[in-house]
Amino acid sequence: MPPVFRFAPSPNGYLHLGHAYSALLNVQRARETGGRLLLRIEDIDPTRCRPEYEQAITEDLAWLGIAWEQPVRRQSLHLAAYGAALERLQDMGLVYPSFESRAEIARLVAQRGVEGNWPQDPDGAPLYPGAAKAMSATRRAELMSSGLPYALRLDMEAAVVRAGGLSWVEVGCGPNGESGTIEATPAVWGDVILARKETPTSYHLSVVVDDALQGVTEVVRGQDLFHATSVHRLLQVLLGLPAPAYRHHQLIRDDMGHKLSKSTQATALRTLRAEGVSPAEIRHRIGLV
Ligand code: GLU
Repeated sequence: MPPVFRFAPSPNGYLHLGHAYSALLNVQRARETGGRLLLRIEDIDPTRCRPEYEQAITEDLAWLGIAWEQPVRRQSLHLAAYGAALERLQDMGLVYPSFESRAEIARLVAQRGVEGNWPQDPDGAPLYPGAAKAMSATRRAELMSSGLPYALRLDMEAAVVRAGGLSWVEVGCGPNGESGTIEATPAVWGDVILARKETPTSYHLSVVVDDALQGVTEVVRGQDLFHATSVHRLLQVLLGLPAPAYRHHQLIRDDMGHKLSKSTQATALRTLRAEGVSPAEIRHRIGLV
């Protein structure tokens, strides 16, 4: 079986030089190994994803000379698959609803954090500070049917106990040069959100379901997702899904050393294309020849 690679952008903005780097590294790996290259559109967030961005993704990738297999998987068309995975986790007793708004969470964090040192996840967001896990089943059912929005969270403590020791094979490297067998530490993320009332999945859940379903053997993606891999390994083990190898790559930065953002027009592939920059120059700028 040939190795399987995937480039998995979210259509919530225009692709930039960093995406070009990630996509081209996937192409390179597929070429080196005689592997297949898939494109997956991660469009589960209807408030941020737009069809014109999706259209722009395929145009920009084609302009770079990248070819991918058909059909393209669009996550928004497969919500039932993620729902089934969520249900399995619910059946294991590992999921609970929480009802606090963002503002309430911020208030709880301020209250509980002694001198502002409430623990944060690797992305800098406060861990869930609420007490929803301890809520009675009756109260839960009452609130869920009251029409209040809610988030479905993973009971991290119970999940970690159930999964046991976790690791992954890093064939690229993490932000601090980590490589080889990496010990996964999902607990640093706290009770992550797996789904919401209005969106029956999350990035973490859909990415592990799809990587398994599409037979992805090596995940090539930016180092900004290195720590998220701990959550992905945890979910893979809980759901009985195979573990791909991970190749995290360095992030392309601007002249000031900042991470590129979809909101900066200057490094968007379409802006560069409109300015007359060629695909060969793009490769050169990101250090690929
Ligand atoms: N959709 C994610 C993003 O655009 C990438 C997901 C992944 O590669 O695992 O940042």
